[in-house]
Amino acid sequence: MDYKLSRLLMWVGIDGGMVLLAASMCFKNEKLVAGLMIAAVAVFALGILQAFLFYKCPECGCRLLKCKGGIPENCPECGVYLKLEDKYEQEQKGNQENSDQQ
Ligand SMILES: [Zn+2]
Repeated sequence: MDYKLSRLLMWVGIDGGMVLLAASMCFKNEKLVAGLMIAAVAVFALGILQAFLFYKCPECGCRLLKCKGGIPENCPECGVYLKLEDKYEQEQKGNQENSDQQ
C-alpha cells in the first residue's frame, strides 16, 4: 500500500473511531452502545495497525509514524523527498512522470 494512502486511512480510522465513540454516547440501548464502542475501537485500531504496517518510507522502509504532523519533507533515515501530499491528485494522473519536472 502507498504510504500516503496509509496515512489517509490512519486519519479515517482515528476520525471514524471518534465519531463512532461519540455516537455511542447518544444512545441508551446497552447493546447498541456496546456495539458502537466495539466498532469504534476496531476502526481506530485498524487505522493505527495498518499505519504501522504500511506508513513507511517507500525507499528505505523506515516507519514514518514516529514523525508527527504529517508526512515529513524528507525521510528521517535515507533523506528521500516525501512531501507529495499536496500534489497527490496530480500525481495520480501523471504518476511516474513528474520526477524531474519542477
Ligand atoms: Zn527512507
